[in-house]
Amino acid sequence: MQQFAEPMARLIEELRKLPGIGSKSAQRLAFHILRASNEDADALSGAIRDLKAQLRLCSICNNVTDVDPCVFCSSPTRNQRLVCVVEEPTSIHSIEKTRGYNGVYHVLHGTLSPLNGIGPEQIRIANLLSRVRAQGDDKDAKQEVDEVILATSPTIEGEATASYLATALRVANSQIRITRIATGIPAGADIEYADEVTMARAMDGRREI
Ligand SMILES: [Zn+2]
Repeated sequence: MQQFAEPMARLIEELRKLPGIGSKSAQRLAFHILRASNEDADALSGAIRDLKAQLRLCSICNNVTDVDPCVFCSSPTRNQRLVCVVEEPTSIHSIEKTRGYNGVYHVLHGTLSPLNGIGPEQIRIANLLSRVRAQGDDKDAKQEVDEVILATSPTIEGEATASYLATALRVANSQIRITRIATGIPAGADIEYADEVTMARAMDGRREI
């Protein structure tokens, strides 16, 4: 005999797929939702449905957005010629918190990790390279990007990704300035958890590679 009625078992099973949610937490959440008002339950399911229906990736920088291009890529007040490469959309918030950065972003959605089978094809590199590639053969053509800041985390995967990108960017456009954020962030740490002062120092102290 099944322990829970079918709709309850189904919700528990779905909640269990979320990160950090074990069987016990999934059961607690499911029973909480069962006891909640119809309005609250509808608001939760509606928020999940709208998230999937309305959010997509910016076609220029891969940031998660409800408008394409995203607010950064379409902003007339941001420096569109300065591009900061980050691992995840959440990294953008760490950098925005410093209030010291006025450029735009490129989101990779991951890092290179050969041991886990994640190579250059598995993360979003292609549209970064096409973005910095010099326009056609016209020597007078405007270069759209002056500097690319590699702001991947100082972890083994983050460093490997930064050095791979430095080479690939150099090949795509030899004129471009390529910098790496300073190691104000402790080695092995995730930039998502860097405090504002550390992150601001890391950006200020970036060096050419
Ligand atoms: Zn964008």
